[in-house]
Amino acid sequence: MDCAEVYRFLIEELDEHLDEPSRRSIKEHLSSCGNCATTLQSLKKTVSLYKSQPSLIVPQSLLSHVLAVIKSSRAKPSE
Ligand SMILES: [Zn+2]
Repeated sequence: MDCAEVYRFLIEELDEHLDEPSRRSIKEHLSSCGNCATTLQSLKKTVSLYKSQPSLIVPQSLLSHVLAVIKSSRAKPSE
């Protein structure tokens, strides 16, 4: 599983729709990839922030936006 795949699964993980095998592969990847681990942390923070405000029901589009930002920042040639 590479980072791009993990990002896609993270959305499911946050929705708690992920099946057990996928969740395990993500955990494995996170333990060896600090980038994705950090990404998951900030996503969880963002989502819990939104969940604490019931009037805001935009997590899916928000997540897509956040993931797009993360992907573009990772695409920098400085690596
Ligand atoms: Zn990764």
